[in-house]
Amino acid sequence: MRILPVLAVATLASVLVAAPAAASPSVLGPTATGYGGAVATVDPTATAVGLDVLRRGGNAVDAAVAAAATLGVTEPFSAGIGGGGFFVYYDAKHRRVSTIDGREAGPATMTSTYFIDPADGLPYDFQEARVSGLSVGVPGTLATWETAARSWGTRSLASLLKPAASVADRGFPVDATFRQQIADNAAAFGQFDSTKALYLPGGAPPAVGSTQRNPDLADTYRLIARKGTDVLYRGAVGRDIIQAVQHPPVSANPIGTWAYPIRPGVLTANDLARYDVRRPAPTRSDFRGLSVYGMSTPSSGGTAVSEALNILEKVNPTDLTQVLHTYLEASALSFADRGRYVGAYTSPDVLRKLASDSWARQRACQISPTVALTKPVPPGDINARGCTPATVGGPTEQGQSTTNLTIADRWGNVVEYTFTIEQTGGNAIVVPGRGFLLNNELTDFNFTNTQAPAADPNLPGPGKRPRSSMSPTIVLKDGKPFLALGSPGGATIITTVLQILVNRLILGQSLPEAMAAPRASQRNTAGIQAEPAFHTTYGPSLLPLGHSFAADVPELGAATAIELTRGGGFIASAEPVRRGGGAAGVVR
Ligand code: GLU
Repeated sequence: MRILPVLAVATLASVLVAAPAAASPSVLGPTATGYGGAVATVDPTATAVGLDVLRRGGNAVDAAVAAAATLGVTEPFSAGIGGGGFFVYYDAKHRRVSTIDGREAGPATMTSTYFIDPADGLPYDFQEARVSGLSVGVPGTLATWETAARSWGTRSLASLLKPAASVADRGFPVDATFRQQIADNAAAFGQFDSTKALYLPGGAPPAVGSTQRNPDLADTYRLIARKGTDVLYRGAVGRDIIQAVQHPPVSANPIGTWAYPIRPGVLTANDLARYDVRRPAPTRSDFRGLSVYGMSTPSSGGTAVSEALNILEKVNPTDLTQVLHTYLEASALSFADRGRYVGAYTSPDVLRKLASDSWARQRACQISPTVALTKPVPPGDINARGCTPATVGGPTEQGQSTTNLTIADRWGNVVEYTFTIEQTGGNAIVVPGRGFLLNNELTDFNFTNTQAPAADPNLPGPGKRPRSSMSPTIVLKDGKPFLALGSPGGATIITTVLQILVNRLILGQSLPEAMAAPRASQRNTAGIQAEPAFHTTYGPSLLPLGHSFAADVPELGAATAIELTRGGGFIASAEPVRRGGGAAGVVR
């Protein structure tokens, strides 16, 4: 979280056009309770912008778009108009949950061997594929904002881009997280003139406390405000994207060395022009009388969270150790099925089956309370009945970056939105003159078949969208929003969202406790990936059941959430510590 000095707070207040009650970002902490609407993001400037929109009478969608555009400025290594994401919306008036799939799409010429080096027939190393033109999918973020604003908002996209453009112009203070994200990417960023100039001033990451400005991005936002989103999908900004993809702006004087050739991509202006968001029905499952809505394909988040929750419901563990044991087992089983069955083109029947109670029964029967399953577990056979015998195919996994926001308004509308440029720093190429990084989302495809001898649902294909793990989730109780949450973290997104739900709905923790609790992620691998506090606290009771731990990771996820309480109140919750801490606020 950015702790803003007094000067920067004054600056932001003027950015927000003299709102008398504009939120001061310096007072936004990880938890806020109150009335009138609520915002939770990873960043105090973005949260303040969202709250300001709500205070001025905008609804949750207006606030979400304005806050998201601001995150594109202040969290540029996680998300922005060079990337894509998934928007889930509860519309209070129509009592309906809708979604927008703004996932990046691959080029029309993409084939299943897209990430195989023709020179030797082997898949590219991940970093070689990432830092290239090849990894870039058509960005869906701007189309998502426009679709959301048009469908459900009350303000024009142009007006919602204004606060973000002002933040980009005036700048914001560099904090330790921002600086570190650049330092971690210095070798890749140093290869491109445009990226170097913006993020390695004087050849090194900017100092903590210095002011980061992005006038090119401010101009890009204003250009979009004037000319509409076609300027990206059919116009000048799009031409610059294609130029950067096909002819990466490799520097004649790179900073540092990069171990790989920087390969051009094949995305074309036609690919951009052909892009549109999709509006798939949300996934839906029931858990203990609650309705859980999530994101359908190309995200695997909705079905994976649903399947694991359904399994937990069937097993119905009671004591703490058994709840955690079952959480880990249910995660592994749902990851096995995700790998085998879920990709952009999975049939609705299969998706429904994976999120069904009958499938959960078939999978839950494999869990023993005393002995952990040997990982990796095979996927279940979707056509079998009874306790599912294994089918062919196996797992593999990856992950880290992205950002998330949760917003609710006084009318009861709720937005849960996760968006990304894939890796922290995307493909490392800032579009020259435009101020935003391009995504490397196409590396979310599997480069080779991970499910052999079965088919892999997540191989590249013409125009295809890669499978995601993003899991924006809205839970309804008696048909009204009760809880909304989401997180970044690659494939760990699914387990982070699931674990917060387990903490809140099964263990009965308060939302802030559920968010702060130590995390662990079992994605169907031999060892559980855990934060040190989870490992030391629960390891002693889980190890005797046969669980094993991989090397600890410092942190998992950077979630945001809002709970809607009886009587129209809100509990807005962001991370107290992870990724520098987040910023939650309420209107009153
Ligand atoms: N590209 C990832 C996905 O769609 C998200 C990246 C991340 O959160 O690290 O699942």
